[in-house]
Amino acid sequence: MTMLNEADHSLLSALRAVVGEAGVQEPTETHLTERRGLFRGQAAILLRPAMTAQVAEIVRLCAAARVGIVPWGGGTGLVGGQVMPDGPAPVLLSLERMRAVRAVSPEQNTLTVEAGAPVQAVQEAAAAVERLFPLSYGSQGTASIGGGLAVNSGGLQAIRYGVARDLCLGLEVVTAEGEVWNGLSSLRKDNTGYDLRDLYIGSEGTLGVITAAVLRLYPVPGAKAAAFVSVRDPAAAVDLLNRVQEASNGAVAVFELMSQRAVDFGLAYQSGSRLPVETPSPWYVLCEVWGAGQERLDADLLAALEGAMAGGEVSDAAIAMNEGQRAGFRGLREALSDAQTRQGGSIKHDISVPIAAVPTFIRRADEAVTRFIPGCRPVPFGHLGDGNIHYNVTQPDGADRDGFIAQWGAVNDLVHDIVVDLGGSISAEHGIGRLKRESLVHYADPVKLSLLRRLKSALDPLGIMNPGAVLAAEGP
Ligand SMILES: Cc1cc2nc3c(=O)[nH]c(=O)nc-3n(C[C@H](O)[C@H](O)[C@H](O)COP(=O)(O)OP(=O)(O)OC[C@H]3O[C@@H](n4cnc5c(N)ncnc54)[C@H](O)[C@@H]3O)c2cc1C
Repeated sequence: MTMLNEADHSLLSALRAVVGEAGVQEPTETHLTERRGLFRGQAAILLRPAMTAQVAEIVRLCAAARVGIVPWGGGTGLVGGQVMPDGPAPVLLSLERMRAVRAVSPEQNTLTVEAGAPVQAVQEAAAAVERLFPLSYGSQGTASIGGGLAVNSGGLQAIRYGVARDLCLGLEVVTAEGEVWNGLSSLRKDNTGYDLRDLYIGSEGTLGVITAAVLRLYPVPGAKAAAFVSVRDPAAAVDLLNRVQEASNGAVAVFELMSQRAVDFGLAYQSGSRLPVETPSPWYVLCEVWGAGQERLDADLLAALEGAMAGGEVSDAAIAMNEGQRAGFRGLREALSDAQTRQGGSIKHDISVPIAAVPTFIRRADEAVTRFIPGCRPVPFGHLGDGNIHYNVTQPDGADRDGFIAQWGAVNDLVHDIVVDLGGSISAEHGIGRLKRESLVHYADPVKLSLLRRLKSALDPLGIMNPGAVLAAEGP
């Protein structure tokens, strides 16, 4: 791996010539900061190419000059992957102008789109041809599909439709040497050698730039039934998940666990909102089942809830009577991420464990963090159906925010040790970025780590792609 250079005047002029006036912009705060304020990035120049050929030319020029490139989608990543604080200032490569839908085929259930399109715009393009693009999360209005693929994002409907990787059939990528790999295939089966698509998905901009993708579409479900449920504890929530899956023949599309504190924070954040059930409970579940017929779905959901009530797992439930109520339940769940910011400093974890181990994980993590910082407030919530919990810890009421945040690494270690002990992952859906780089080195299997480093050197021999994200820039 070579040392990287500062972008000099001649490189900057050449880059400006590639994209023209419309393709250069002064970086804004949104481009240089990540929303948790843990990293502040830098940029020699912010480029906004309009087409793949421009991206390829930019990469070739940067490779020749040994200057780093940081791909930027919507800036909503939560692990500092899109901001580079150290080393020579990189070229910040925003895909914001590349958002065209290149093709859509309802017959084949595919949609080909450029990487800068917001996730929500992809959903809307699918809806326009009466199809569903099921990737869905709180940041979908801003997050780009390229960013979603680059971090292999998950979201609320992953339990039914899978994560970004499962929703992608083909990719177009500009390699770290500036070649264009046209892998825009819509094939469902293709076993011709190593799967390059799967290599670039989840690579967080460290191997190349994703410029377009062929995505999978699904039929729009004819009916949806939703319930907001008071459950006894996380173990009861796991039992309820199995009951609903069995009763509905696997039709669960959303299954989210929320602690009482998380919901209380959400209600305080959303003015005018109220708890959907009558009795407060230490734990809640948001459950949606999707299928063809409303009556059948309602009956299946009700049967599962009645069984769980008889079993003592569920004490109360509100069933959405219309689309507005369903959206209200979901809006409360989606507000939880932002709601915590109102409560002071928050130390975050995005972990997964086997689904049956979620109750043990939450109990052990609660014990560990409250012993370490008495008075701190665990706020667990997340995608229970995928064993993925956002185990966030809010500062004690009235404590000093900076002093609390200074414990970030120590609290992470406590929680991640438990995760790994239970056979889990320290990053379920946000990626490694710069935030979890050292944790990856600490917890990853040594052979895996060595293979990751060899892949990086093979596909980005000059080390110009997102230097310092996922793996340290200089290697071991
Ligand atoms: C409120 C909120 C809710 C969220 N909920 C979820 C959730 O439920 N599930 C989930 O999985 N995530 C969630 N996220 C995080 C999620 O990772 C991001 O929102 C999104 O996937 C990142 O897309 P982006 O375009 O903003 O990427 P950015 O933040 O711009 O970049 C993220 C990473 O991808 C790289 N990258 C970006 N574009 C490209 C490209 N075209 N080619 C190569 N590399 C690229 C960047 O270099 C960086 O490493 C949430 C975030 C927020 C703020």
